[in-house]
Amino acid sequence: MTERQVFAPDALAGQVAVVTGGGTGIGYGISRALLRHGATVAIASRNAERLAAAAETLKVDTGGTCVAVPCDVREEGAVRALARSVREQLGPVSLVVNNAAGNFRMAAEKVSARGFRTVVDIDLFGTFYVSQAFVRDMISAGGGTIISILMPDPERGFPLYSPAGAAKSAILSLTRSWAREWGPHGIRVNAIGPGPIPTEGVAVNMMGMSSQESADVFGNMRDTLPLRRLGTADDVAAAVVFLASPAGSWITGNLLNVDGGVSLP
Ligand code: NAP
Repeated sequence: MTERQVFAPDALAGQVAVVTGGGTGIGYGISRALLRHGATVAIASRNAERLAAAAETLKVDTGGTCVAVPCDVREEGAVRALARSVREQLGPVSLVVNNAAGNFRMAAEKVSARGFRTVVDIDLFGTFYVSQAFVRDMISAGGGTIISILMPDPERGFPLYSPAGAAKSAILSLTRSWAREWGPHGIRVNAIGPGPIPTEGVAVNMMGMSSQESADVFGNMRDTLPLRRLGTADDVAAAVVFLASPAGSWITGNLLNVDGGVSLP
């Protein structure tokens, strides 16, 4: 999907969102869609310069309010500081999008404990720190939405990316636990499982390939997908807008695969 206005432009009016990893790739697309539907948005990740530039572009592009707050989601103290900063700048957060992640391609027998821990620290602990830091305001407010960006059906495993598969699978379990625990407070907790989306982050960091090599790999993947096209950040962003909007108000504890059919049995 290329970006177009499917939902009412005020579908998220009054919402305050934080998107981790919101300065690049899928997170950037999500942030842009949230802004275009009336939310104010804080984007958070480690690279302060790139994050500030992304916030500026998002503001110009959408006319919305977007702030950049540098943060390493592996650091609990930094995440608490993020929560304070966003509350001071934008008010209490009603929508958290856990999108930041780390990943690398490696045969399972070669993965070091350090590499494994790094992925688990970013994906799983980061999701835990961020969700917990913001949920207290949601409990006080009597509602909110938490959405984590995972992968299609992570319990099936992720050969050659086994640490990420383990971390995403654990986040799916958290999604279901939290949906039950925080549901009585009006807080909905869901996950999205994107299929293959050729972002720069995936090509360079995760696959460790040149742009041409990753284009070839993604081209082969495309031909195996039931819908015969790769995904875009906007495909995922549309699902986030849907789940965060009143249209998603009775949906919780779900994994929504946005994957061109790749997870079909
Ligand atoms: P990406 O552009 O590399 O996104 C990763 C983001 O996470 C970056 O903005 C990065 O920013 C941030 N990040 C990494 N470590 C961090 C840390 N310690 N603290 C805070 N932020 C951190 O790749 P993407 O493809 O858009 O991926 C976004 C999400 O989609 C990930 O959860 C990924 O697992 C998921 N996903 C992607 C695909 C795909 O095919 N693209 C498929 C399934 C799932 P900094 O470097 O500035 O920290």
